[in-house]
Amino acid sequence: MKTYDIAVLPGDGIGVEVMDAALAILRAVEPRIARRLVTTVHPAGAAHYQATGAALPAPTLQACRRADAVLFGAMGLPDVRATDGTEIIPQLDLRFALDLYAGVRPVRTWPGLPVPLADGRAAQIDLVLVRENTEGLFYARGRGRVEGEAAYDTMKISRAGTGRVCDFALALASKRQAQGRPGRVTNVDKANVFTSMAYWRSVFIERAQAWPAVAVEHVYVDAMALNLVLQPWRYDVLVTENMFGDILSDLIAALVGGMGMAPSADLGDSHGLFQPAHGTAPDIAGRGIANPSAMVLSLTMMLDWLADRHADAALADGARAIESALHGALVDAGVRTRDLGGTSMTADVVQAVLERL
Ligand code: ATP
Repeated sequence: MKTYDIAVLPGDGIGVEVMDAALAILRAVEPRIARRLVTTVHPAGAAHYQATGAALPAPTLQACRRADAVLFGAMGLPDVRATDGTEIIPQLDLRFALDLYAGVRPVRTWPGLPVPLADGRAAQIDLVLVRENTEGLFYARGRGRVEGEAAYDTMKISRAGTGRVCDFALALASKRQAQGRPGRVTNVDKANVFTSMAYWRSVFIERAQAWPAVAVEHVYVDAMALNLVLQPWRYDVLVTENMFGDILSDLIAALVGGMGMAPSADLGDSHGLFQPAHGTAPDIAGRGIANPSAMVLSLTMMLDWLADRHADAALADGARAIESALHGALVDAGVRTRDLGGTSMTADVVQAVLERL
C-alpha cells in the first residue's frame, strides 16, 4: 500500500484539540482510499519552550524536513515570551527553515452557514489569498533595533522572493480558471508610497506577462481592506506582501464565519505545511469547544497537495470525502460549535464527520 510520512506538530492551546480531531478523521479515511498516512507527533511550541527552553527542537525540524508533509496545529501562549518580549512563534522559524514562501489562505462561504455580511452575494465568496511568507516586513523579525528614542524594522522585497510568489499566484489563478473560476489575480500593494512596494509591483507586472490568459489588477492595501468588506465576492486570487497578508487573512476569515473556518497551507518547492489560520485561542482552550473545521480543511489541503505532487488521485478522493462529510455535519445536520452559533462540542463535530465517512 502506498504510504506517506506526515510530521504532526499539535503545539499549544486549541492546536492540540483540533489536531486530535483531524487525526481521528484522517484515520477513518485511510481504509476508504487504501493509503497509509503514517503520522508521527513531534514536540514544539510555547509550552515546550517553557519546559525545555527550545520552541522548535532540532529533531522536530529534522523530522519536518524528512516528512512528505507537515500537519501543524497552533503555537504560542500569551504569557510565554522570549527575553525581548516577543511571543514564541516557531511556525515563523519553520517557514524560513523550510523556505515555505507561499502562504495560501483560501476562504469560501458554505451555503447554509451564517456569514456576517447581509448581502446575498456573500454566499458566493470563493477567494484565495497568497501571502509572501519569507521576507517583506517579517524580514525584520530578530533584526529590529532601537536607537535612542526610535525603533527600526526593515522591510525586504527582493526580485527572487517576489517573483516566485507572484508566479505561484498566477499559476493558481490559471488552475482555478480551468475549474470555472474567473482566473484573475489582484496584486495588493502600497506602490503609491513605498519604494519597496513599487519594486514589488514592477516584478508582479513582469511575471504576469508570462500569463496572458490570467487577468490582473492592482489595488492598494487600504482600498483592499475596504473592498473586502464591501464586495468580497468580486475577488478570485490575491497576492500580497507578508505583513499585509497577515492582516488581510484574518479579515477574509471573518467573511466566511471566523477563524474556525479558515484553513491554510505554507508551501515551498520542496515542503508543505498545513495549519488552520487561527492561533491557539487561549480564551477557549481546554474546554472542548473549538471549531475543528479549519484544521480539518487544512488536512484536505494537505491531501490535495500530496495528490498533485505524487500523482496519486486517491488522496484527492480522500480530501473530497472529508469535505463532503464536514459539509454534511455542519450544514445538513447543523452540528455547529459556538463560533458558528451552535452549541456542539469539538467531539460532536468529529463524531458527525466520522458517521458520514
Ligand atoms: P495568533 O496571534 O496566533 O493569530 P490570536 O490569539 O490573535 O492568535 P486566535 O487564537 O486565532 O488569535 O483567536 C482569535 C479569536 O478567534 C479568539 O476569540 C478565539 O477564541 C477565536 N477562535 C480561533 N480559532 C477558533 C476555533 N477553531 N474555534 C472557535 N473559535 C476560534
